[in-house]
Amino acid sequence: HGVTGILAVQGAFAEHAAVLDKLGAPWKLLRAAEDFDDSIDRVILPGGESTTQGKLLHSTGLFEPIAAHIAAGKPVFGTCAGMILLARRLENDDNVYFGALDATVRRNAYGRQLGSFAGVGSFGDITDFPLVFIRGPFVSEVGPDATVESEVNGDIVGLRQGNIIATAFHPELTSDTRIHELFLGL
Ligand code: GLN
Repeated sequence: HGVTGILAVQGAFAEHAAVLDKLGAPWKLLRAAEDFDDSIDRVILPGGESTTQGKLLHSTGLFEPIAAHIAAGKPVFGTCAGMILLARRLENDDNVYFGALDATVRRNAYGRQLGSFAGVGSFGDITDFPLVFIRGPFVSEVGPDATVESEVNGDIVGLRQGNIIATAFHPELTSDTRIHELFLGL
């Protein structure tokens, strides 16, 4: 398939690029609207600071092509802040960004500023996956369009909705590439 566009206005985009390199999958950093060209067939929204990312999405003009990509049902993978950007409802923030993922999330619920390992969990059929949280979002409600793929201690930390996958944790900060492989297979 084509190239993965990695949103690179702020946050942990380099870590996602490193995982894709490991898998031999082509990627391109999305820093400006013109970076979103016809080669891009899937998008990663990395962790970072969703408020900053949201502002930069608009000022760079990247918001519109990514929103159109998501609206067309093409694959998108949001980690942490990326999950916040995808959610339809935010509990402790007045903003809504792509508003695509049928869930309510609360910002900065889990983990410290530096990555903290919180054991292992599953994502769908992928079991024994290492979970790393950095002030990750808490999923307080999931609507009928989304399915829960991942839970830890009874809390929801991974969702899927068609070609949208979202994790409150950071697979790109581990050496386990299976969720990225799942994404590349969408
Ligand atoms: N604190 C971030 C936010 O609310 C999310 C944390 C992360 O992406 N590691 O945007």
